[in-house]
Amino acid sequence: MIYAGVDIGSRAAKAALIRDDEIISSVIRDTGAESIKTSNQLLSDLLDNTGIKPEEIDYIVATGYGRVLVPYANENVSEISAHAKGINWYFPSVRTILDMGGQDCKAINCDENGNVTNFIMNDKCAGGTGRFLEMIAEVLNVPLEEIGELSLQSGGKIPFNTICAVFAKSEALRYSRKGVACSDILAGLHEAIATRSYNLLKRVSLETDFSITGGISKNSGLVASITEKVQMEPRLCEDPQLCGAIGAALFARDKCASAGVRAKMQYGYDDATGSYYITVDEGLCDGCGKCVGICPAELFSYVQRGGIKVVEIKEGARKRLPTLCSGIEMCGDKNGGITCQKVCSANAIEHSW
Ligand code: SF4
Ligand code: SF4
Repeated sequence: MIYAGVDIGSRAAKAALIRDDEIISSVIRDTGAESIKTSNQLLSDLLDNTGIKPEEIDYIVATGYGRVLVPYANENVSEISAHAKGINWYFPSVRTILDMGGQDCKAINCDENGNVTNFIMNDKCAGGTGRFLEMIAEVLNVPLEEIGELSLQSGGKIPFNTICAVFAKSEALRYSRKGVACSDILAGLHEAIATRSYNLLKRVSLETDFSITGGISKNSGLVASITEKVQMEPRLCEDPQLCGAIGAALFARDKCASAGVRAKMQYGYDDATGSYYITVDEGLCDGCGKCVGICPAELFSYVQRGGIKVVEIKEGARKRLPTLCSGIEMCGDKNGGITCQKVCSANAIEHSW
């Protein structure tokens, strides 16, 4: 089955598409001024080059501050829950998360299943958020994506007593005009943000393992400052900015599993050697079992979905379909015209390659 998670943040919109337990597509773009338009474009970008149509997505969960504005979402969850779920998928040992977003910062505790057990949020002040760092990068005339590495080259960081967006901006400008190196200004600001993040983390329970999520965690200089302050090496996932979207997609997956949603299940894969898929439409399947009895490769087995008996392709066979199934034509030739598709009067089985 295919699930999508959409995370409409204040600065960036993210989406992830998963099939069972594998990320098959992801996308990040600016949120822009119109959340609905952004949501629609995001979905189109997400499905680009996947060969998957919107109607083939079984369930979509939205998260982020703009989650209620995603017109095609089946439901929504808070970004706190989504980040905990997402990080738990990558690192089940993580118990403390610092989510640093575009306009707020959150400290979160979660349990071994990715359920939120405690959180605290700083959304009253822009200091230390993505927007704040964008502003500082503009003032110093340094590309945003370079400020992390630049700060690591500092030979003597400038202490900042505040990261109040207004005061820190004018202080940074004053130092810059005095000829202080950008690397020293940035290193000082990162340290001030790290101190503030540490104070936020202390208000929940700072337990191992620890992770940082959100777009700001791509800033290597800030991550280094936080690591030093917290005295704990954070576990960073492949793209920490996507963590909320992945978490939302996992909520979609769990929702379908617990509700026993019957939908079109596609099995198989494609790789360099080609592709082969068998689709069972569980909404049509009546569990008659004819396909189970006649398949010479014994690919089908029964499963209960939502209290109803349907069939699925056996777990161990899913990655070997091209070698196990000889294909409709050849299978029919060998078996006097009898194939799974032929015996299924419900038209629930399709083969594609
Ligand atoms: S085409 Fe034949 S081998 Fe392939 S799944 Fe159907 S019955 Fe089994
Ligand atoms: S033959 Fe068709 S209806 Fe019968 S169990 Fe197989 S898929 Fe379901």
